[in-house]
Amino acid sequence: MRVTLFRSDLSNPAKPSRESRNIEVRGQDIPYVLKRYRGRSSVGLIIDHRGLTVTAPRRASDRFIVDAIQQQADWVLQKLEQWRGRKPLSVLWRDGIVVSFLGEPVTVRRDLFHRGAPALEDSYLLLAASDDGEAMRRQVIDWYRQQARSHFPLRVADFCARFALPAPRVIVSNAETRWGSCNVKREVRLSWRLMKAPPRVIDYVIAHELAHLKHMNHSAAFWALVAHIYPQYKAAQQALRRNDALYRAF
Ligand SMILES: [Zn+2]
Repeated sequence: MRVTLFRSDLSNPAKPSRESRNIEVRGQDIPYVLKRYRGRSSVGLIIDHRGLTVTAPRRASDRFIVDAIQQQADWVLQKLEQWRGRKPLSVLWRDGIVVSFLGEPVTVRRDLFHRGAPALEDSYLLLAASDDGEAMRRQVIDWYRQQARSHFPLRVADFCARFALPAPRVIVSNAETRWGSCNVKREVRLSWRLMKAPPRVIDYVIAHELAHLKHMNHSAAFWALVAHIYPQYKAAQQALRRNDALYRAF
């Protein structure tokens, strides 16, 4: 029989300690947040809009942590650079602006003869001539939302049919940074802004959320399921990151 002894410790063992630090990587001064966790055995690096976060074992030495970061110097600098380029673009709403729809350029036109809701004709999105900048913005966003309401459920249904997955409820969201999310009620939320992306990128986000319905984490089993549902997911994932500023522009 094995007996496991727990150290008496009133602090939450899952809660990491946090510390702000700096490190010089190839001559650049990089600030980072160090989070130490009890029970962790390796160093992990995370880069997102907050910058670099390092997760480390509770008792890891400074040398061990610094070495782990330096070993990934190329990756760290490259990722930080990518995030720096990710400021949303601002849009000046006027006749002739070009927007991205399903990965293709579409020119927005105020048309003297056009009445009612926006309509896509070839690569032109026609709006009523009376629309000013703010009205244009609203009309175009409504139009994207409407396209999303038909595109997303069709793609979700297609994946579910092909992989014998129970169909979730699909909700079109207005999220600016979270392209997709899901919950235990089996609701999948997808941002209408994704309609700016090519269909293969939208398919990746859908595959990602469908895989979360089975694995509510980013474990190896989760990524294996994503790869099973959508084998080319890595290229789509990169395309989504590269065009982040474009998709968030409005
Ligand atoms: Zn995820």
